[in-house]
Amino acid sequence: MESDTQEYEDIQANLQKQWNSKSIPCPSLTLVLAVVNPREDTNFTEYKNMYSIKDKNISSFFLGTDIGCDLYYNHIPCKNASNFSNCRMCHLTSHGLGKLIYHDNPSFSLQKNLVDAHLKVKPDSEMHIYSLLLCDVACGNAKKVRTNNEERPEGADVVVVQQTEEVKVFNADLACIRYILFYIV
Ligand SMILES: [Zn+2]
Repeated sequence: MESDTQEYEDIQANLQKQWNSKSIPCPSLTLVLAVVNPREDTNFTEYKNMYSIKDKNISSFFLGTDIGCDLYYNHIPCKNASNFSNCRMCHLTSHGLGKLIYHDNPSFSLQKNLVDAHLKVKPDSEMHIYSLLLCDVACGNAKKVRTNNEERPEGADVVVVQQTEEVKVFNADLACIRYILFYIV
């Protein structure tokens, strides 16, 4: 995505708004890649319709993951996308977040708090560039728990952990990866 577009400026403005750390400088975007995954998008739309969720009730969440290729430089998902162990980033953007849910159990949580999400990612060793996935989440059948250690309430397909402001996603259809954000701090 070109840096002079409204969409790019909106994302940067949102990062600044959400950045609530005084000790770490606010991230500055260096590149935004839009993620297009028609199958994930269709599933997400069907999920929203099923629960009559309006667009204004869609929330943004962040997820950090490892990159094992030159995506930052050539903007093309790598050929290793079919294999999780080589490049998790391209694997997830190509196949969706469902790849992180095993036997009904998510091996990840999405962060609402940008600073918390940032603190979980490591920068690229050469350029010191960080990356995060920005995901849309529709909380349909959501249940709240206070802490991370609590069990999944029965029937919930998304669990909101109040203490840490993160969500555990048990049904991949309710989340959709929208952008890969590359940034420096
Ligand atoms: Zn890759």
